[in-house]
Amino acid sequence: MNVIRTVKELRQAVADAKAKGLTVGLVPTMGALHAGHVSLIDRARRECEFVVVSDFVNPTQFNNKEDLVTYPRTEAADCEKMEAAGVDVAFIPTVEEIYPEPDTRVFDLGPVAEVMEGAMRPGHFNGVAQIVSKLFAIVEPDKAYFGEKDFQQIAVIRRMVELEGFNLEIVDCPIMRESDGLAMSSRNVRLDAEHRALAPEIHKVLEKSLAYAADHTVSETERFVVETINSTGDLETEYYQIVDALTMQPADPSAQPGKGMVGCVTVYCGGVRLIDNIKY
Ligand code: AMP
Repeated sequence: MNVIRTVKELRQAVADAKAKGLTVGLVPTMGALHAGHVSLIDRARRECEFVVVSDFVNPTQFNNKEDLVTYPRTEAADCEKMEAAGVDVAFIPTVEEIYPEPDTRVFDLGPVAEVMEGAMRPGHFNGVAQIVSKLFAIVEPDKAYFGEKDFQQIAVIRRMVELEGFNLEIVDCPIMRESDGLAMSSRNVRLDAEHRALAPEIHKVLEKSLAYAADHTVSETERFVVETINSTGDLETEYYQIVDALTMQPADPSAQPGKGMVGCVTVYCGGVRLIDNIKY
């Protein structure tokens, strides 16, 4: 595995691979890699001949300074995991390398970025669009891999790709979970033992909501999820919204949850902000 820290060297490595006729897959990450990230890398490895993984904590997508400062950074362990997964290039740049000057671009992401995470984390998706568009422009991958854990992010990236005219395939990959159902996340390491024990309840309630939804409306199901989660110890729901899985727009409150709808939740668990989702 080639560990590359500069844009210039990354461009060269990708150009060499393309000159050999290899198809290129890109997996953007913020490091602190876990089995969820590895599932994306494995998929890229199966589908592409040259796999680039970026490992970069992107400051422009953090709307909360403390979250940025305390974000886990585990480069050595990440490199071991990437190497074991057969990654060709690990791209691990500094902030100065990616942003030699401030990125002032504002993307017209439209309605997909206005709801849920977009409403709660101002500027977050614009920062995601900034970093992902830079990576796409440098690597020009054939395919790029994203996890459904960040369901809304995929819709935002598809919108950015359309706006910028990138010619690549966005591949969405299923959520990887711990054995107790908790969605894997780099932020899970911040949970103390008590809250780690509570956190799986989020997924359990989402699963229960599938049966509940069989004879209830969207708004009743949303209320069921929020009330059930909030009645568990220290869990506090920020939002639970059932939306169209492509447009991210709220489903008709009086409809019954069904195909093509996804429920997205954000829960504070002992000060740690966790997200998850479920398809109806
Ligand atoms: P992050 O490092 O959190 O920015 O995540 C990098 C990529 O890995 C994103 O596309 C995430 O959606 C994806 N990812 C994170 N956690 C999981 C998970 N539990 N299952 C599947 N994909 C994930």
